[in-house]
Parts: sequence; structure tokens; C-alpha cells
Amino acid sequence: MLSVSKSEQIILDLVRPLSEVEPVDLALATGRILATEIVSQLDFPHWDNSAMDGYAVKFADVRSSTPKHPITLEVVAEIPAGCQPQREIQSGEAARIFTGAIVPAGADTIVMQEHTQRVQKNFVKIQIAPTAKSFVRQRGAYARIGDPLLAAGTILNPPEIAILAATGSSQVAVYRRPRVAILSTGDELVMPHEPLKPGQIVDSNQYALAAFVHQAGGIPICMGIIPDDRAKLTAAMSEAIESADLVLSTGGVSVGDYDYVEAILSELGGDIRIRAVAIKPGKPLTVAKFNRDNRTVVYFGLPGNPVSALVSCWRFVRSAMAKLSGLPPAAWQPCWSEALTTQDLTADGQRETYLWGKWELIDGKYYFSLAGGSHSSANLVNLAGTNALAVVPVDTMLVPAGSSVKVLVL
Ligand code: AMP
Ligand code: MG
Repeated sequence: MLSVSKSEQIILDLVRPLSEVEPVDLALATGRILATEIVSQLDFPHWDNSAMDGYAVKFADVRSSTPKHPITLEVVAEIPAGCQPQREIQSGEAARIFTGAIVPAGADTIVMQEHTQRVQKNFVKIQIAPTAKSFVRQRGAYARIGDPLLAAGTILNPPEIAILAATGSSQVAVYRRPRVAILSTGDELVMPHEPLKPGQIVDSNQYALAAFVHQAGGIPICMGIIPDDRAKLTAAMSEAIESADLVLSTGGVSVGDYDYVEAILSELGGDIRIRAVAIKPGKPLTVAKFNRDNRTVVYFGLPGNPVSALVSCWRFVRSAMAKLSGLPPAAWQPCWSEALTTQDLTADGQRETYLWGKWELIDGKYYFSLAGGSHSSANLVNLAGTNALAVVPVDTMLVPAGSSVKVLVL
């Protein structure tokens, strides 16, 4: 049986990042992963412009202004945002200016409107002296032409989308999303709309895993329920391996008479790298590699119990998907944190144990509280609302209430 960290390393070593690139409209690019570096085609800001509504002036004219002895300037122009100034400012003159408008030639400083008083029609009193160059956003202060703005492998969230729009990209080159085949094995499984006969349960894993794949940026290919029939399972697994970048099957990896997955993986030419992991829940995890026409397909035979299947996804599949998708190494790691446990956390000391519950900030400290109810790997009911898993290491049987525990944040 392999340790969790050894298994994680084996899995990451198996995955080859997808390199195919596709164009996507910017409006549909949220969550996608940039495939090329974006270099600035413009200076940001594009022009010296005003950060305030106010007056563009020569600093030398107004440096001695005070409320008692304000300096009066003639207002010779009005420059709204989006307009080209028509006239250079001379000594003794000011231009009315608005936020974002180009600072006119001759002016070097903006006086905010609140520090001025308009007199007659065309004059303004500067009542408080500005500091030199105040409220001028200098051309190129944020980025210059040729500066790198976004690296390949960047996930596109609202800030990156804004940058792409501002650089004039209406389409962007992103990595293709991983295609992930999902199949559920088991004679006892039925679809959610079907009535339950004695002994049957609904195939919840198919839906849970599709949701997981979707959240992880992949395209789920749902292959449905495959009965515990060796020929049918072989056909379905083979089709999955031929059509997907990653395969997730659930069930059929334990030691029961109908657990065929591992044997079929061998028959299909898979290189089985993991047969069991010292993790609870999720021990029977089986991972194999297939080489198909220059592609590497990683097959995860996940345990059937609903909690085991999801914990395996959170602990192992998510990292694999991050690497497969083209994200940089820092994003392959799970999101670890620390918390104070509000209850005793117990484990058998043999396997790294993942306990589900809530991670929350209370009065400036992070706490972990176990989900109420049974912590059976078959109990999907109390998994609702889980946002973290507390980790009890091997050789530890108790993490007492009030002490610090490592948590995997979901
Ligand atoms: P197995 O490893 O196939 O023996 O499955 C272990 C347990 O998980 C059994 O109790 C199954 O009924 C349950 N199980 C297997 N597949 C699913 C599924 N797709 N959805 C919900 N429960 C499942
Ligand atoms: Mg089964």
C-alpha cells in the first residue's frame, strides 16, 4: 500500500499537460487557461491623464495659493474625457478637466475641484496649493509597450479578462479543456428518476463527479451506469480510454467477486501504478496509465462509496487535472491550511485520515468542526456544506479538541 504523498507524486508524474490551443471569445473565457504570453501593445495609461475632476494648471503658477491669498487663473479650455485638448496652457491659464481626460500640453498638475472656486464665467480661484504633478496619471506608469502582462498558464479571472479587453483582445488563445470520461459500475445502480427496487441505490457518483470535473475546468463525458458484467465493463472502459484524456470510474476496485476494474485495466494494456493507498476513506484507489496514439490517458479507478469517491477526487484527481489543463506547478498542489479543531479527531493510526466538515473564521481564528452524524464513507448526506477536510496523519490516533490540525480547503 502506497502512502498518500507517494501516490500524489506518482499521479503527477503520469500526467502530461495538454498542449492543444484553441481560440475563445473573451466573453466566454472566464476560468480558461491562457496558452500564450500576453505582451502589452500599448503604454498604460495611454496618455498623461487626469485622476480627478478639477483644473489642469502649471504648478509654478499656483504653488503659493492659500485660502486667504488664492491665485486666480483664466479658464481657457474645457477637456471632457475622450477629447483631444485643442490648446496649450500658458502661464496664468487653466483648463477645466474631468477624470480620465488628457492633460493638455503646458499643464503639469491637476487641482481637484474641491480646492477651487469658479468666479465669473471664465476664472477660477485656486484656494489650496497642490503638490507638483498631483493627480496626473503619467503615460506608461502602469506598463509600457512590450512589457509582459500575463504569462502562459494564467487562469482567466475577472482581472485578467479586464487586462485582455484593455489590450484589445476580443479572442484569446487558451488550452483545450480536458475531456474526462465518467462511468459508474454496479448492478445495484439506477438513474435518479427510476424507482428503487430492493437493494438498489441511485448512481449519485455520476453526478457528483461530473460536477467536480466541471468545477475543475474539464468537460465531463458521462458514460452512465455499467453493470458488473465483465464484457460490458471491458467495452465501456475501452471506449472511455479511447475517447478521453482522463477516465474516472467508480466502484469495482475492492476485493469483491464482482470487482473487475483492475483485471480489465491489465487486459486492456494499462500500466497499473497504484493499487491501494494508505488513505481513509479511499483505500482501494487504482491508477493506471495508457499510451494511445501519442496520447497519455490516466485512468482513475475510484472507490464506489460516495464519500470515498469525492475525497479521492479532492485529494488526487484535482492535482492531476490542474497539471493536465496547463496550469503551472504551484497550482497542482492542494490548498492546505491550518485550523484549531473544535472536537477530538480520531483515526486508526494506520492510514492518513480525511475527516469532512466546516472550516470557518471566528473572531480572527480559523476553526475546523466535524460534520455532524456518521463519518461512514457511505454517508453522503452529512457531506453537504463541507468546505474542508481535516487530515489526521499516519501514526496519530487522536488530535485533541483545541489543537491545531492541517486542513485541505476545498
Ligand atoms: P464497490 O466498490 O463497487 O463494491 O462499491 C462500494 C460501495 O459504493 C457500494 O455500497 C456501492 O453500492 C456504492 N456505490 C458504488 N457505485 C456507486 C455510485 N455510482 N453511486 C453511489 N454509490 C455507489
Ligand atoms: Mg460495485
